[in-house]
Amino acid sequence: MINEDISTLKGIGPKKKELFNQIGIETLEDLIHHYPRAYEDRRTITKIIDLKEDNKVLVYCQVHSIITKGKNSKVTRLIVSDETGKLDVVFFNMRFLEKSIRRGNFYYFYGVFKANGTKFELKQPEIIPIKDKEFEVGLVLPIYSTTKGLSQKELRKYIRMVLSHKDYGVEYLPQYIIEKNKLCSLNFAMENIHFPQGGEHFKVAKFRAVYEELFLMQLGLNMMQKSEKAGKIILSDYSNYLDSLPFELTKAQLNVVKEIQSDLQSGRVMNRLCQGDVGSGKTVVAELALYMCVKSGFQGAFMAPTDLLARQHYDGLKESYSKFGINVELLSGKMKAKNKKEVLKRLKCGEIDIIIGTHALIQPNVEFSDLGLVITDEQHRFGVNQRMQLQSKGENAHVLVMTATPIPRTLAVVLYGDLDVSIIDAMPKGRKKIVTKVYNEKMRNQAYISAISEIEKGRQCYVVTPLIDDSDEIEAKSVISVYNELVNKYANISIGLLHGQMKKEEKEFIMSEFKEGRIQLLVSTVVIEVGINVKNASCMIIENSERFGLAQLHQLRGRVGRGSQQSYCFLINSGKGDIAKKRGEIMESSNDGFLISEKDLSLRGPGEMFGTRQHGLPDLKMADLIRHLDILEGLKEDAKNVSKNMSMGLRKRVENSFGNKININI
Ligand code: ADP
Ligand code: MG
Repeated sequence: MINEDISTLKGIGPKKKELFNQIGIETLEDLIHHYPRAYEDRRTITKIIDLKEDNKVLVYCQVHSIITKGKNSKVTRLIVSDETGKLDVVFFNMRFLEKSIRRGNFYYFYGVFKANGTKFELKQPEIIPIKDKEFEVGLVLPIYSTTKGLSQKELRKYIRMVLSHKDYGVEYLPQYIIEKNKLCSLNFAMENIHFPQGGEHFKVAKFRAVYEELFLMQLGLNMMQKSEKAGKIILSDYSNYLDSLPFELTKAQLNVVKEIQSDLQSGRVMNRLCQGDVGSGKTVVAELALYMCVKSGFQGAFMAPTDLLARQHYDGLKESYSKFGINVELLSGKMKAKNKKEVLKRLKCGEIDIIIGTHALIQPNVEFSDLGLVITDEQHRFGVNQRMQLQSKGENAHVLVMTATPIPRTLAVVLYGDLDVSIIDAMPKGRKKIVTKVYNEKMRNQAYISAISEIEKGRQCYVVTPLIDDSDEIEAKSVISVYNELVNKYANISIGLLHGQMKKEEKEFIMSEFKEGRIQLLVSTVVIEVGINVKNASCMIIENSERFGLAQLHQLRGRVGRGSQQSYCFLINSGKGDIAKKRGEIMESSNDGFLISEKDLSLRGPGEMFGTRQHGLPDLKMADLIRHLDILEGLKEDAKNVSKNMSMGLRKRVENSFGNKININI
């Protein structure tokens, strides 16, 4: 029954079903795993005499009078009492209450208590009639995330309906796993998560839910783990290409290239992650891999998360490969239909050796003649699915993914569990540590003085702002207002404006002007966050730096310091308090992405930083990848064993939970 559609519940017609679907609930199983986002404690009724200011309280009172007053009859006021005192209950725009509330009757009210001078008030409380007492009072009530048209009451009702069915809770976890980890039964867990019977019960229930979620995720990951599929043999000497480079590879880069080469020759499909801090030189590693691939007669695909970055890779690779007779093309979603058709045709018949593009590359109409290698740059911007979709365009194509996202090592193992990992752990020779300084708003001009002096030396500068337009709600600088300000102030400097809502051609034009040095100061939003490489840029000012995460600041800052000159980064911080201060200290003292991300984590907590979507991992409902990492580590071995011999019930549950979220190859 648990896999049945939500509409099999009495009372759910097509319209309600649509609302449930909107919040991701399709089956009864989805419904009982729609866990509360919070709880309301309605176990005790407070007497009026015991009410405390600002507490959320439940009172049980008789209504004495009900009057609507005020401009446009907006304020409806009830006077109520219990045996200990009197209280005003105030509602706005709810005149209809005059009809539905009966004088002399008793009701429960649940809301926040305010003492307003000598007046005691409950504002906008929930009204609970006595007939609803059984389900709404005397217990801890779940609060769910929901959508307009679907009330908490309804959600509770339908969840109760499912929970009251005896056969909803057929256990799918193996018995020995339950015993070994002292897990409670599925029924107990679900009942106490939705309607907790006290703290201890809830703790036990939650542990099971967390454990189960991680266990299922691990089983899901195991299913997609390293396939031992046969891969294309890519055999090529790349010394010619090395000789053509303007620099020598670092040892760290060479090691990674060798690891890749050995994968490509192994006869098995490569699945490799190349991780390296911003500016460590990942692109050239990709170039070498693609070179080997093309020289062995296969095509390659190189996917980047933004138009600007795809364009930059295209320009770079086109030039480097021109000496070797390799055909490179760019494919973008916003290309003219005619050009696109032409590129697709040439790609399909094998005239194009390497295609570079954004997500456009994974569209169904993109076909290859013989795809041998796919590379995704800045993998953290893509989902696991997208990587796999691109890979599936070739038969047994090799995969290389690159990222600078500084993920703590322990977590990387989980996130990228199906990948072998190579790390570029050193910077090219001659790089200088970026000098970073935090200024407050008052000192802001200081940063601009330094920037101008860099520009006068012939260098270029980025200014990054958090917003595109000025906003009424958010007090932060917008790219347009800062651009206008600077244009007025520095008439003799050539200043450019760049943001994500500009047309693709405009963006590319501005970027190429900056690259060519015709724009000296570029005022931009975070569209330049990843990948952009302009060596002559030596200074970055980040406005309202408090609005960015440390990891993101580190990525942004990585746009400078890409050449041998001394570079600078100025953070204009309006944040107050200890955390803001610590953040500043971390950015000033460290240039190490791993360290910064670990500190960031401890300051902000994992939730904000590891939006699971960024990593293409499933959204976890109960578990938290950081806080519960030890549980996850502990269950890996068991999950491995269980993976080998899964019951149908369990397999279904894994598929239902994670099947369409992490691509599972069965
Ligand atoms: P990221 O790892 O952030 O993608 P890039 O690949 O964009 O870094 O490289 C940053 C800059 O360093 C580029 O200008 C690149 O040409 C240069 N570079 C890469 N490897 C070396 C090296 N071994 N020696 C000197 N410069 C290098
Ligand atoms: Mg890069």
